[in-house]
Amino acid sequence: MTTERYRFGVDLGGTKIELLALDGSGRECWRRRVATPQGDYDGTLAAIAGLVAAAERDLGATGSVGIATPGSISRATGLLRGSNSVCLNGRPLREDLAARLGRAVRLTNDANCFALSEASDGAGAGAGVVFGVILGTGVGAGIVVHGRVLDGPNAIAGEWGHNPLPWPRDDERPGPPCYCGLAGCIETFLSGPGMAADHGRSGAAPLAPPDIVRAAGNGDPACAATLQRYEERLARALAHVVNLLDPDVIVLGGGMSAIERLYVNVPAQWGRWVFSDRVDTVLTRNRHGDSSGVRGAAWLWGGGQPPQ
Ligand SMILES: [Zn+2]
Repeated sequence: MTTERYRFGVDLGGTKIELLALDGSGRECWRRRVATPQGDYDGTLAAIAGLVAAAERDLGATGSVGIATPGSISRATGLLRGSNSVCLNGRPLREDLAARLGRAVRLTNDANCFALSEASDGAGAGAGVVFGVILGTGVGAGIVVHGRVLDGPNAIAGEWGHNPLPWPRDDERPGPPCYCGLAGCIETFLSGPGMAADHGRSGAAPLAPPDIVRAAGNGDPACAATLQRYEERLARALAHVVNLLDPDVIVLGGGMSAIERLYVNVPAQWGRWVFSDRVDTVLTRNRHGDSSGVRGAAWLWGGGQPPQ
C-alpha cells in the first residue's frame, strides 16, 4: 500500500451497493457495484467491506469512506432510521462499519450527497451556498454551505418537500393527501407522480411526465397547461427557499430536472414571490446526475467536512 489516500464513496441502496474511488484531484479511478444482500444486515456490512478491500487491493492505496443511504443517523441514539432497507433501521450502521473497516466513516442521505456532489465539483462548484433539489418520485433537498453539508439536531435540513405548497390558490387547498399524513405538501405537486396526478385532475387522459412534456412541446393545450402549472408552482416553492436561505445556486436533480424549459421559465416567474427587487440566484441542471450518490459520499471527506 502506498500512502496516497483516495476518497471512497459508497451508495448503499435497496437493490445495489456501489463504490466509487476519487483520487486527490477528484478524478474517478475505480468503480464497482454489487447487489444489496436483501434483509441481511451483516451481509450488507460484509458487502461494503468487500468493495473497500477490492478497491484498495486494485489501487494499492487506502481511502476514506463516506456512505450515501436513505434515512438518517439519530443524534440522540446513533442508530439509523427512516431507511427503506428496513433491516438497517435501528442499527448503529456508522459505528459497525467503522469497526469493520478500521477507520471513521461518514454517512448522510442521498439528497445531501446530491447537493454536496454538485457543490464540490458539479453545477454549484465555487458557490458559497448550494440548495440541491431532487425532483423525482419524491421531492427532497440538501443544503451545502461553503463545502459542508448543513447538519442539524434533527438531520432534516433541506427537507422542504413536506412543507405545504406556498401561496396556495383556493383550488390548491387543502391539496392532495400525502403519504406523510399531511395534505398539499410540495412533493404532492412537484414530484413526477405529482405532475401526473395534477394532469389527471385537470380532466385530461392519464399521461406520464415525459409524455406530458413531449405533448406540450407539440402544442397539446392540456399538456401545456399542466406544464405551466408545474413551472409556476416550482417557482413559488423555490421563492420560499430563496427568502429563507438565499442560496447562490439551486441545482435540480431527479427525473424532472430533465425538463429544459424549467431553467428559463421558473426564474422568469420567481421574482413575484421573492422579497427583493431582483433575484440573482442561479437555477441550473445537475452535472453528475446518477453518480451524485457515490460522488457526494466520497466528498464527505473533502473540504474540511467535520466528523459526523
Ligand atoms: Zn408530505
